[in-house]
Amino acid sequence: MLYFDANATTPCAPEVQEAMRPFWDGTFANASSPHRAGRMAAQAVAVARRAVAECLDARPQEVVFTSGATESTNLVFWGLLLAPRTRRRVVVSSIEHKAVLESAALLEEHGFQVIRVPVTPDGVVDMDMAARAITDDTALVSVQAANNEIGTIQPVLQLARLAHQAGAFFHVDAVQALGKMPVSMRDWECDFASFSAHKIYGPKGIGALFVRGGPQRWPWPHPLRGGGQEGGLRPGTLNVPGIVGFGAACTLLQRRPAENLNRLSILRDFLEKSLKDIYQEDIIILGKASPRLPNTLTLIIKDIPAEFIISIIKNSMISASSACSSDSKSASHIVTALGYRESLGKNMLRISLLESVTSTEIKNFIDNFHEAIFLVKDTV
Ligand code: PLP
Repeated sequence: MLYFDANATTPCAPEVQEAMRPFWDGTFANASSPHRAGRMAAQAVAVARRAVAECLDARPQEVVFTSGATESTNLVFWGLLLAPRTRRRVVVSSIEHKAVLESAALLEEHGFQVIRVPVTPDGVVDMDMAARAITDDTALVSVQAANNEIGTIQPVLQLARLAHQAGAFFHVDAVQALGKMPVSMRDWECDFASFSAHKIYGPKGIGALFVRGGPQRWPWPHPLRGGGQEGGLRPGTLNVPGIVGFGAACTLLQRRPAENLNRLSILRDFLEKSLKDIYQEDIIILGKASPRLPNTLTLIIKDIPAEFIISIIKNSMISASSACSSDSKSASHIVTALGYRESLGKNMLRISLLESVTSTEIKNFIDNFHEAIFLVKDTV
């Protein structure tokens, strides 16, 4: 099977599974229990927290474990919702993941003014528009580090500075960035950032919220109530196997040879060029002129709905847009945000490579793709 849907999720690495194994039975204790077994679980959580912090270029106490990026992002927006209302504006980009867009919509339902800043035709936030949108009335700016559908990389540091100059908080959805480009909480100057372990060869259902200065510097009421875990910001019994797995995945990332990402972008470029050479004007590559994640290639095939290709292509797993949007019947919002007509959204295909991809797999994929297009054209 050619699994070319890495932006949806990645397999859990064998080393990660191995690291998690003891925490299902042998060391299964509750990390908050005072006895020896509990202290061992707590110790494993502390080790994992250090590994995650190192990977994010943050301090361990700034890492709050959650069930994943959706929860992390919701915590930020719910926190603001519960706070005394001194500022009414929230600024996001028009190409955010639904975790951000829907959270922003929630605030809108409660009287906030939400500004969705447009992006350039190549999928990068329009900085002039952002500068105009971020006013003294802005409470929160939330922009992703890299887009999940087309892989474009956003100028997070400049946005963080604009937000801070206006006295607003800055949240970054860094889910797709981690493992595919340099990530640094220190350099990005963000206040909050959301992460999911399953995008970096870790387990599903575990992630983190970076909070600058740690939970004691959280500026708003706590949205979740329960035990005092994670500084009271994310109460509930800790998912020790998941946390250990997240830590192990981060350790693997730190040890990975630096040239891996370069190799990945060479293979992606080869795939892109091969498809462009064959289909020429019949395909549009999205985000091509912008800095992009090295594993992501997203295209629109004129006249062929993506679902036909996805269902017919042999042995190859690719997706129409983000996995989270694929339930909804509407086409990806990214296509219209980039200025294309809405109907082309149904023709958008995302190919996202795992780090282990080989040139033989890419060549096989090109053959399968070509065969699928041929078959679809024959039947349409
Ligand atoms: N943000 C981005 C950019 C994503 O790609 C995803 C998942 O695809 C999420 C947020 C949500 O992550 P999760 O489903 O792990 O909560």
